[in-house]
Order: sequence, then structure tokens, then C-alpha cells
Amino acid sequence: MLQKNTFYARQTENAMSDAPKYSLVIPIYNEEETLVELYRRISAVMARLDGQAELILINDGSRDRSLEIMRELHEKDQRVCYLSLARNFGHQIAVTAGLNFSRGQVVVVMDGDLQDPPELVLDMVEQWRGGYQVVYAQRTQRRKEGWFKRLPAYMYYRILRHLADVDIPIDTGDFCLMDRCVVEVLNAMPERNRYIRGLRAWIGFKQTAVKFERDPRFAGDVKYTFRKSLRLAMNGLVSFSKVPLRLSIYLGLFAAFVSIAMACLVLYWRLFYPHSPLTGLTIVMIAIFFLGAVQLVSIGILGQYVGRIYEEVKGRPLYTLAEVAGFRPEDDDR
Ligand code: UDP
Ligand code: MG
Repeated sequence: MLQKNTFYARQTENAMSDAPKYSLVIPIYNEEETLVELYRRISAVMARLDGQAELILINDGSRDRSLEIMRELHEKDQRVCYLSLARNFGHQIAVTAGLNFSRGQVVVVMDGDLQDPPELVLDMVEQWRGGYQVVYAQRTQRRKEGWFKRLPAYMYYRILRHLADVDIPIDTGDFCLMDRCVVEVLNAMPERNRYIRGLRAWIGFKQTAVKFERDPRFAGDVKYTFRKSLRLAMNGLVSFSKVPLRLSIYLGLFAAFVSIAMACLVLYWRLFYPHSPLTGLTIVMIAIFFLGAVQLVSIGILGQYVGRIYEEVKGRPLYTLAEVAGFRPEDDDR
């Protein structure tokens, strides 16, 4: 919750001297089959980092044993901290919660299904040392993902690139490294509809890419259902572009043009072919449906924006927390 976060932020400021240098933020939703292997690979990477590291797991309302496994990992290894959201808030919010609680000078965000290879973090850190504040991972290949996932993703990122106000790099997800200064800005952004890869691009600073091949998921099913993916895609578009709004103006102008053309045609037929069936009901029906469609599409587009304004105005906290462990000693005995 927002208030709690500021409280924690202040706490961390005070205790900055013993804060870890690296934070690894990983959202988890029903990943019981992957967690142990994830921990194994991450801890191998942590051992190769040049400073203290914390692993922040965010349980996004999992219904399987994920939370219990997190508790066990935390018992075993104090570097593992976890947050448990009170329900499933979605990937972007889970990452946001993790970023709010992170303390490291360097923060890495990655998926919990091992599609993002943890070993790449070492390359990212190398770039960070070279003076970059944001190092994002860019996919060169999506192995074993069907064309029905690859093709829409391929098209979407290219369309978004054309329409968005900021330059969102193509084929990048949320797998990235961010310097503390970027995380602070991100944490200070109040918006509820969070499209993190877009916000990250908006923030600026020196950014660079490291290329990687996306591995197949380690185990379990995809947690981003078609509906969730569609919502994320829509969010990206609406949050970073006003072109769809302009689209309804163009649609309206186009409809006006077509209706004038039709009026001319009907007049022509009336004068020269008075018995043509085209002047009858058909053409009226077409016109009605056409105009109806244009209006509904326009209202729909408008609705997307108005709905988001409503979300923002309500000003609810981004998430609710049910359990926190590992950040301060007092938290652990709940
Ligand atoms: N995830 C989450 N909440 C959700 C959906 C997904 O925290 O509502 C997590 C999931 O556990 C995984 C990451 O987000 O760590 C990416 O999900 P997934 O692998 O299903 O998505 P994709 O690989 O298609 O991007
Ligand atoms: Mg995945």
C-alpha cells in the first residue's frame, strides 16, 4: 500500500548502509513447479555478483503452493524476501509492488518461469558499470512459442512503435536492469494503469539493450491468458498514444465523405435509372449500419480513455498486502 511504501522507503534510507547492492524482483503466479529451480539458478548468479543481493519474490495471489515454497526458501536463505498480495492483481502491479520494496542500487526485473535466463543479469550489470541506467533485454528469438503468439506480438510492437509518444524499443518485455535513480522515478509515478516497459522508456536516462534468446517456459502453463495479454496490449496503446482518439475523427470524416458520395449516387440513379433497386431500402440499411458502426467504434475508443481517467481519479492503492517477510526483522514473525 502506498502509505506503507513511503514508510518502508524512509526505513530503508536510514538503513541504507546495510542495504543490498542488487535487488532481483520476480512476480510469481502459480509457479510451484518452477520456484525451486528458479532459486537454484538465481543463487548461482547471486554468488557471481560483486555485492550483496536480495531476491524479492512477489506472490500475486497464487492458488497453488507457491507461497509456501517462498516461505521455505526464506527460512533457508535470508536473502530471499517475499511479498504476498492479497489477491491476483496482475503481473504489472506485482512488479510495481516489488519495485516499491526493493532496496538495491541496481534492480533487476524478470519473469518467474525461467523464460528470462538469470545468467543474462551478469551481462546487464556489465553494461550498468559502463554507465547505463537502464539495460533492457531484447528478444532475438522466441523459441517454441507458436506463430499465434509470435505473429501478434511481432505486429503489436511495431504498431506501438509507430503510434506511441515515446520510443518503446521493439521486442522488449519487462526483463531489465534499472539503476536506483530510475526505480525512484518509477515508484513516484502515481498512475494505476501501469505499462512498465513504456514508463521505463518514458523516464529516459541512458538506456541500452542486451540481446537474448527467449527460452521456453520451464514448467507449467502460461499465466498470461489471451485476455490478460490483450488487456496489457490495450493498456500500452492507450497509455502511450492519443492516435486512437484521432482515429475516430478520421473515421467520422470518412463516413461523412462516403455519405456525400452515396447521396450523389442516389441522385444520379433517381434521375437516370429510376427503377434501379439500389435506390431502395438496401442502400438505406447499409448507410444506417455503417454510421452505427462508426459511432460505436468511436464511443468505444473514447470509453477506453474515459475509463482510465475514472480509474485514476478513484485513487485507490495499487495493491493490498497480506504478508511481507525479509525486509526488516520485525516482519518475519507474522
Ligand atoms: N504473472 C503474475 N501475475 C499474473 C500473470 C503472470 O505475476 O496475473 C507472472 C508469472 O508468474 C510469470 C510472469 O508474470 O512469472 C510472466 O507470465 P507468463 O510467463 O505467463 O507470461 P509470458 O511468458 O507470456 O509473458
Ligand atoms: Mg513466460
